[in-house]
Formats: sequence, structure tokens, C-alpha cells
Amino acid sequence: MFRAIPFFAGSTLLASACVVQAFPTQQAVPGGLVILPLASQNESMPTVYYAGERVTVVPQGNYWVALVGIPLNTEPGRQQLDISLGGVQQALNFEVQAKHYRIQRLRIKDKNKVEPDEDSSERIVQEMALQKRLTKHYVGQVSSTEFIRPVAGRDSGRFGLRRILNGQQRQPHSGMDIAAATGTPVKLVAPGRVIYTGNLFFSGNVVYVDHGGGLISMYAHLNQIKVKNGEVLEQGDYLGTVGSSGRATGSHLHWSVYLNGTAINPALFL
Ligand code: ZN
Repeated sequence: MFRAIPFFAGSTLLASACVVQAFPTQQAVPGGLVILPLASQNESMPTVYYAGERVTVVPQGNYWVALVGIPLNTEPGRQQLDISLGGVQQALNFEVQAKHYRIQRLRIKDKNKVEPDEDSSERIVQEMALQKRLTKHYVGQVSSTEFIRPVAGRDSGRFGLRRILNGQQRQPHSGMDIAAATGTPVKLVAPGRVIYTGNLFFSGNVVYVDHGGGLISMYAHLNQIKVKNGEVLEQGDYLGTVGSSGRATGSHLHWSVYLNGTAINPALFL
């Protein structure tokens, strides 16, 4: 029979179990992630949903473990996972703590990137739908959760910053910014398959990579894109160069990581 393992007890069990790969750092806050042991690997892989979105499940030691991304707009308090194992439905709760993110004020020269005209607004709506689809891509199992840094450079904008652009409140920062000179090579953080390359209004030249099992990474404001849609790549492969395309104040890489369709803090994977 399937029995969900309580979170803290599960963590203790995992610590003594055979560790297959390094996990991201757990941070049960909005924009963070929780790691929840689900069931023994003697059972078939559980199917897990959080807020209606499919959750990443990976083998670890002798267990199936859920990696759950927590959306930035989540209210602190009790959350629920819906688990299905061998046709049996079960709920597993976890707690989300509050986290305060700082404000970042930026001045963007191109006013249309802050207050888009009608044509741009239409384009943005279409691109938001596309990006939503890409970040919810769920195929097979996770290749690896051991990431490398995509580019060497100074962290110039942390994940979750509450953004004020030209005096106006905008969406919080959905990734990590790394400042580097235009033309600096960008490396792939883990093995994966390219699921989109193109030019988007805000993100500029962008590459989306599927690492399997609902784990997605995204690289924005590129100067050049060196990979093609559908290409299968290894960790460290060269996928493009740093630039300032799209809405950017200077040359940098914007790097995002998604679990269950939710942008979470990429620093947790380093
Ligand atoms: Zn950014």
C-alpha cells in the first residue's frame, strides 16, 4: 500500500540513503522549491500535481521524490500536493514560509518596452501564451539536477526582485541576471533538448531547453543563438553568446529555471 512519507522524517531517511545525484537546495518560500519523498521505488512512479500542474518526480536513493516549484505569488501557509500511485489518490501537505524580496528600480531607455503600443501588446499576449506552453513542457524523466553556471560573471539582478521600471510596477524578476561582455559564450547548465529558439519582445533572442520530467531552463537577451530547435545537447555545450537583445539595460544573461511551469530561483541549483 502507498504511504506518503512525512516530509522531515523523509529527509532524515534520504540523508542515509544512497545518493544518486546532488539535489537543488530546498527553500520552502515563494520562488523556492520543496523536496518531498513520496514512496519507495518498489512502487511504480507516482504522478503528482500541484495547483493543477504536473510536478517533477525523480528517483533518489530508494525513493521517488517530488521537486515542487513554488510560485512567487504564493501566500505563506499550507499547500497541498495531489498524488496518484497505482490508482490510489492521496494528498500530501507542506508549509510555505514568507520571504521578503527587495525592490529594484530600473530605467529603460526604450519606452515601448515599458509601456508597449497596441501592436506590441498583441505580440506580448501571443508570446506569453507561447512561454507558458514552453515552461509546462513535460516529457520523460529529468536528465540531471546537477547544474553548472551558464556564464562566468557578476550577479547583477537576483531572482524575485520586485521591479519598478521607469517608475511603474512590473512583474517580479523571474530569473537570475549575470553581467558579462557581449559575445561571452553561454553554456548549457545540464543535458537537455532545445524546445524553442527565437526572438521575443521582452526576452530578446532566447533559447528554451527541456531537461526532461518538467525541468526547463531558459536563456534570454542573447546576442547570437548557436543551437537549433530539437537539438539534443550535453551539459556545458555552447548555446549562444551574451547580449542585450529585448528589454535589457546592458549586456547580461538572464537565466530562468522552471519546475511545474513555475519560475523558481536558479541559484538553488548551483
Ligand atoms: Zn533578468
